[in-house]
Amino acid sequence: MFKKILIANRGEIACRVIKTAKKMGIKTVAVYSDADKDAVHVDMADEAVHIGPPPAAQSYLIIERIIDACKATGAEAVHPGYGFLSENAKFAQRLADEKIAFIGPNIRAIEAMGDKIESKKFANAARVNTVPGHLGVIETPDEAVKIADEIGYPVMIKASAGGGGKGMRIAWNPEETRDGFDRARSEARSSFGDDRVFIEKFIVEPRHIEIQVLGDKHGNAIWVNERECSIQRRNQKVIEEAPSPFLDPETRRAMGEQAVALAKAVDYESAGTVEFIVDKDKNFYFLEMNTRLQVEHPVTELITGIDLVEQMIRVAAGEKLAIHQAGVGIDGWAIESRIYAEDPFRNFLPSTGRLVRYRPPQEGRHHGYTVRNDTGVTEGSEISIYYDPMIAKLCVHAATREAAIDGMSEALDAFYIDGIQHNIPFLSDLMRHPRWREGRLSTGFIAEEYPEGFHGGHLHADAERLLAAVALSIDLTYRFRLDNSGERQFGAPRDPRSEWVVRLGAHEVVVRTPSGFLPAPIELDVAFGDDPEIVSVRSDWTPGEVMWSGSVGEDRLTVQVRPALNGYRLTWQGITVTAIVLTPRQAELARLMPEKLPPDTSKMLLCPMPGLVVSINVEEGQEVKAGEVLAIVEAMKMENVLRAERDLVVSAIKAKAGDSLAVDAVIMEFE
Ligand code: ADP
Ligand code: ADP
Ligand code: MG
Repeated sequence: MFKKILIANRGEIACRVIKTAKKMGIKTVAVYSDADKDAVHVDMADEAVHIGPPPAAQSYLIIERIIDACKATGAEAVHPGYGFLSENAKFAQRLADEKIAFIGPNIRAIEAMGDKIESKKFANAARVNTVPGHLGVIETPDEAVKIADEIGYPVMIKASAGGGGKGMRIAWNPEETRDGFDRARSEARSSFGDDRVFIEKFIVEPRHIEIQVLGDKHGNAIWVNERECSIQRRNQKVIEEAPSPFLDPETRRAMGEQAVALAKAVDYESAGTVEFIVDKDKNFYFLEMNTRLQVEHPVTELITGIDLVEQMIRVAAGEKLAIHQAGVGIDGWAIESRIYAEDPFRNFLPSTGRLVRYRPPQEGRHHGYTVRNDTGVTEGSEISIYYDPMIAKLCVHAATREAAIDGMSEALDAFYIDGIQHNIPFLSDLMRHPRWREGRLSTGFIAEEYPEGFHGGHLHADAERLLAAVALSIDLTYRFRLDNSGERQFGAPRDPRSEWVVRLGAHEVVVRTPSGFLPAPIELDVAFGDDPEIVSVRSDWTPGEVMWSGSVGEDRLTVQVRPALNGYRLTWQGITVTAIVLTPRQAELARLMPEKLPPDTSKMLLCPMPGLVVSINVEEGQEVKAGEVLAIVEAMKMENVLRAERDLVVSAIKAKAGDSLAVDAVIMEFE
């Protein structure tokens, strides 16, 4: 076995690999750019080597820097993680030249599978079902239309070198094909430095289901069940689960056997993933093979008990697979939520900055579920513009899918982040979505169920009562502290009032407290409005705590508490609302106060994030229809197309291509 390995990556995946290496008694070497000198992965490793400035192209992607770091530290093998150099055949070759082991597959497999056009040809030859399409590079928009007409609409235009959901476009007609061809091509050129695109049939209402495979250098290969990753936004996975709620044992086996056939065809000798798209009749088609550890591998580990990183390391050291096909089972259900630094209220635009607070839920056993959180950040870490915006992968394992979803919902509520925007409110809302809970999924789920984007969880009647009770228990705790020395034996608060009005945003909930109140731990009985039912509120919450955990009647809940003017900002299950506790008289007076309206920005196009103007696509005086492109802004290497939300006339343009704009800078004004 290796004595020392180097991890040519950063963030959560570097930490993940280091964990297993430690468990196996292997020493670890981290590499880091200037932006990562204080990063968690650097701290965790036994040694660390500086490899250059923040941009990945000047550090993590420079092969010779990694080779030098291996030589300097005596690392015998390299784990590449995912992204960066993980699927780079030249890198694997350079390591081979230097007699350093690559913890991944052989070079031929990387080459054969690294290109979408080539890998489809390969899969065809191995008798794996592939998506119908044209297996050649398309050169012009005219050619694209001709081929799309032949395949039949809808079609998907894809970058052959693509990855991470970039460089692909759906087209439903010839015009969209022309437009999509240009866009896919320019995105492919800027993201991958390779603008070859091809066209295949777009499978309607598809589910993304992938098979984990494991091979060794002795000709053994097995499949380790599937993961379903149909919850995607712009072809990028957001939630993954294992097993899939859609597969029956026969389809699972058929997909597993095809995946192994493909793996064997390229002498695959590591962990890899064969991705399939599955239509509503359970026909499945090969999409691509990822010749590396997959982001969502933890859900497979949770249901099988197999440490995939350990297997990769053992296989790279020449060991035979100790696991046989018959020994791979499915235990329970696992779900992963990708926590991204992005603003769900602003169309998921990237968010950067310091993690002023970062308190993930406790890992390990909870009520009926287990939490695993793969992360590469801690409180105080900086989320920079240079790297992937994923900050953590929150995983929950339970006996059933329903229990796993409920567990995920609780774990998300208990995940506290301040300093940057993040997608937890959206993920929380999703966990409650009936269609998700029923498992009726397709890759169009988010686009179909959130057609207007996400604007915060809906404050439904149950939520109103629960949050009003929590707010009141908090408020009474503070009042009590002001009234008393804080000693619990002093009993109920002096305040004799037994009726309160809790304002939740624009809603009011009348809460009665028939039998007094005790703080630390909170004991409070409440009744809502005219409802005679008495509900008990219990919690250990004390002033200053950012998390209120406890129960309201039968419901167990964790609510995040932040200070707000005259009240508290409460966050629970994707709902964020400001709660203000008033006496009935105060509420009466408050109703007379004029409401303060936010400034009207509906006649302006504001820059949604700090970024660079790529183009202004309209002129002053131009009439624009809803949906037409107004401008394109680039941020974090992504082009963000800003479209007209309604029909309008452009009255003034305030920015030009090449301008570097701050968030909320005015790009143009409308009549
Ligand atoms: P998975 O299927 O494991 O989710 P993705 O395709 O989403 O993998 O990519 C995993 C990570 O690697 C993402 O962070 C993505 O941005 C990055 N990535 C994938 N392919 C490439 C590529 N060709 N170039 C650069 N980054 C890539
Ligand atoms: P990447 O390398 O970026 O991961 P994939 O080929 O794996 O690219 O596709 C990413 C996602 O795009 C899939 O999970 C699926 O949602 C969607 N997709 C890709 N090809 C098709 C297709 N032919 N029909 C329908 N959806 C597709
Ligand atoms: Mg993919």
